[in-house]
Amino acid sequence: MKKIVFLLAAMLSLTSCSILGGINWDSAQLGQAAGAAMTAMSITDAQIVSLCAQSIAQEDAQNRIDNGSYAARLKRVLSGVTVKGLVLDPKVYIKNDINAFASGDGSIRVYSGLMDVMDDNELFAIIGHEIGHVVNQDTKRAMKSAYLAAAARGVVNAAGAVGVLSQSVLGDIGQAYFNSQYSQKQELAADKFGFEFCVAYKKDPYAMYNSLQKLQKLSSSRQSSYLEKMFSSHPDNETRSKKVKDMADKYVKSAK
Ligand SMILES: [Zn+2]
Repeated sequence: MKKIVFLLAAMLSLTSCSILGGINWDSAQLGQAAGAAMTAMSITDAQIVSLCAQSIAQEDAQNRIDNGSYAARLKRVLSGVTVKGLVLDPKVYIKNDINAFASGDGSIRVYSGLMDVMDDNELFAIIGHEIGHVVNQDTKRAMKSAYLAAAARGVVNAAGAVGVLSQSVLGDIGQAYFNSQYSQKQELAADKFGFEFCVAYKKDPYAMYNSLQKLQKLSSSRQSSYLEKMFSSHPDNETRSKKVKDMADKYVKSAK
């Protein structure tokens, strides 16, 4: 049955497949699935942004949000930063995990554990990388995939009433969304965005490179789904680091 869903996803040219794992399918759901998949296809950008905002609100409710020194540092690091088409909303979760993400609604969430191990430049680069996924529409595709998976299971209202999802359905979609894995091509493009983001705001041009090096080093000693997502599907990490280092070398050389 899983094959059929993969086929549906392929038909819709969706990129994220990992979110489709671990689901029990039965034949009664398949008729619904086809219809609901069509509904997912017609989901608008505004509905996707609404889903992102609702998922983040649920995450916020489940995490401890810092109002002290971490929040102040994040605010300082991002002061003066604007991204076209997005209203940035940065917050810190108090959690000793290596994690950060930006969402399609402009939310940026950074874990205190990540802030503990990164300097300001590296933190800026990682946030730039995450914003890159939003600007490059990776998060939009991921949310669409997450919604499609829920639609295929028949748990999303066939009328596609995105605005009235129950908390459990939303939790389901949110989990799939936050767990979605990006392709190597998407990661490289986000790295490039992170590098350009640093340069545009006159940060260390090597910050993206340094943060990747640090994350890679941490991935050998710390359990983190973020690090797994960032690196496990990309065996060629050396090439990835080298690419951002080359960008920085080139920039520094041309700036001389
Ligand atoms: Zn990424």
